[in-house]
Amino acid sequence: MYMDGSFELIREFDPEIAQMTVEEETRQMNTLCLIASENYASPMTLGMEGTVWANKNAEGYPGRRFAGGCELADRVERLAVKRCKELFGCEYANVQSMSSTLSNVAVLRALLKPGDMILSMELNQGGHLSHGAKFHYSGKSYQVIQYGLNPKTEVIDMEQVERLAKEHRPKLIICGTSSYPLKVDYKRFGEIAREVGAYLMADIAHPVGLIAAGVIPSPIPYADVVTTSTHKTFRGPRGCGIIMCKEGLGKRIDQQIFPGMQGAPKMDMIASRAVLFKECMTPEYRAYQQQVAKNAEALADELKKCGLRLVAGGTQTHLVLVDVRGLISTGRQAEEVLESVGIVVNKNMIPYDPQPANLASGIRIGSPALTTRGFKEEDIRETARLLAETLKHCDNREKLQEISAKVREKAMRYPMFAKEWISA
Ligand SMILES: *Cc1c(COP(=O)(O)O)cnc(C)c1O
Repeated sequence: MYMDGSFELIREFDPEIAQMTVEEETRQMNTLCLIASENYASPMTLGMEGTVWANKNAEGYPGRRFAGGCELADRVERLAVKRCKELFGCEYANVQSMSSTLSNVAVLRALLKPGDMILSMELNQGGHLSHGAKFHYSGKSYQVIQYGLNPKTEVIDMEQVERLAKEHRPKLIICGTSSYPLKVDYKRFGEIAREVGAYLMADIAHPVGLIAAGVIPSPIPYADVVTTSTHKTFRGPRGCGIIMCKEGLGKRIDQQIFPGMQGAPKMDMIASRAVLFKECMTPEYRAYQQQVAKNAEALADELKKCGLRLVAGGTQTHLVLVDVRGLISTGRQAEEVLESVGIVVNKNMIPYDPQPANLASGIRIGSPALTTRGFKEEDIRETARLLAETLKHCDNREKLQEISAKVREKAMRYPMFAKEWISA
């Protein structure tokens, strides 16, 4: 194909960008990534992006395009949608959204009129900015009331959800989280939504891979609309939001994506996701997701042994929210010292955090990326111990250098994408 060898050309033509790309690859190889929202995309899905599909204008939907030469594009998009419906057991799917934040906006625009009321989870208790945060489109255009966690158990307070729903009669209830370690009770959310005549949207951007593989329950039977990213636990490249819904809402949602918010879709992204959906149906993918869950449990268990407090007491997903104050003052300090030894995490607020967002008292970590590299429970436990040691000895330069060498040595022994997950 005509792009073969293109990286060699870039090296000659644009050595600056080529060099940074090589260094980024090295960084991704030599560090231990515990960022819960990151992963290493599978080689086949990454490879599909940047193929000739990136040249094709396929504005519109299959069978209704605004450009010629779309016969193959139609077949690719139809196959992507068919596989998505099979994988999740949903009635209708749209695969054109450029991100899952945009998917959420499209759903709000399809279901609500400006000023309508949304009931959603608070951002600093685990929700997402597109669920009604003040500074986001969703918070500026609609009335928003929010639920949170039970302060004692740090579990979503379903009684509060029910009470607020009955009191305010929202038009839409949103569930699904960004930094919540436990399973969400979609069934209960569905019952509450039906009782008050609200739509239910479940945003599964984080745990979607576990859901696709049947490791944790799916919201599909209970929600009117389900939205997701494809790059977190799903393990595709970044970008692309998927919207799944009941047949009757499909047209309205399609219209909000195109022409309401976007122009032509990215056909290489859609082709890549078609490959991703096919991967999700393999035994290797299910084994991967089972390992993600086992590794998250091991991670949580070992961190507790190291004296750290976990929000909600542990995990039922891929994600662990750690209160770092047992070992270091703030999440920001933790993020910085961990980065200095090659363990990559992000600071995160914990429920009822006394610190502002730019400092925070916690870190949000997860197992998907290291599991992709082939880490098993014992490897993750070792990583957890290195993490805790780093926080404990954050002022001891010699000790940090020692840890840094161990991290690098460990990371370099693993590929970016373990062979055992490749299904070909
Ligand atoms: C990450 C996340 C998103 C946003 O995904 P993007 O594709 O980065 O826009 C949306 N909702 C939730 C709950 C998320 O965690």
